[in-house]
Amino acid sequence: MAELTRRAGPDAATVTRRWLVLTAELVARHAEELTALDAAIGDGDHGINLKRGFAVVVERLGQADGVETDTATVILRAAGQALVGTVGGAAGPLYGTLLLELAGGLEGATTLEPEPFGGAFGGAVAAVARRGRSTAGEKTMLDALVPAVGAWQAAAAAGGDLAACADAAHGAAVAGRQATEALVATKGRASYLGERSRGHVDPGASSSALLVGALTGAIAQVGRGEGASR
Ligand code: ADP
Ligand code: MG
Repeated sequence: MAELTRRAGPDAATVTRRWLVLTAELVARHAEELTALDAAIGDGDHGINLKRGFAVVVERLGQADGVETDTATVILRAAGQALVGTVGGAAGPLYGTLLLELAGGLEGATTLEPEPFGGAFGGAVAAVARRGRSTAGEKTMLDALVPAVGAWQAAAAAGGDLAACADAAHGAAVAGRQATEALVATKGRASYLGERSRGHVDPGASSSALLVGALTGAIAQVGRGEGASR
C-alpha cells in the first residue's frame, strides 16, 4: 500500500472529452490566424481544415449526458478517425495518428495519472514523427509537441501532479511554437520555400500549442468539477 501516496487522478474519459471540446473551440477561435500563418508559408488551408475536422469530432462524440460511459480510448479513437476522414493535407493524418496512438496508449486507463499519460503522450508524438518522417527542428508541429512531451515527463518525474505536468507541457509547446519562427522548413509544403520559410511561425506548431493548451484547460476544468463527470 506504499504506492497509495498520491491521490487518484481525474476520470480519463471525462478529461479526454473536455479536451477535444476545448480544442474544437480554440481551433475555431484561431482558425483565421492559423490559415493566415499557412497562407504565408503553405497553401492557406490549415485553420479552415482543422476547424472543420474538430467540429466533426465534437459532432461524432455527441453529448455525455451526465455520466461518461465511453472510455478515453473509445473517445480518442473516434476523434482520430474523424480527423483522418475529414481533414485533408498533412495535418489530418498526422493529428489523426496522434489521437489514435494516444487511444492505444491509454487503453485500460480509467484515471489520468502523470507518468502513464506522459508515456502515452510520448508514444503518440513518436508515432507522428514516424508517420511524417520528421523530427523536431524541421519547423513542424513536432517543434511544439516534442518539447511538450519532454516537459510533461520531466514534471511527472519530479513528482508534479497532473496540472503541473500540463502547465509545463503547455509552456514548452508555446515556446516551441515561437521558436519555429527562426527555423527553415525541411518538411511539408513550407519546405518548398527553403530559406524564405524563415521568419514565419509554423501553422502546425501553432495548432499543436492550442491542442496542448486545451489539455491544460480540460485538466483545470475537471479539477474544479466542471464539465461532465462521473
Ligand atoms: P498541408 O501542408 O497539406 O496544406 P496543413 O496546412 O493542414 O497541410 O498542415 C501544415 C502543417 O503540417 C505544417 O505547418 C506542419 O506543422 C505540419 N507538417 C507538414 N508536414 C509534416 C511532417 N512531415 N511532419 C510533421 N508535421 C508536418
Ligand atoms: Mg496547408
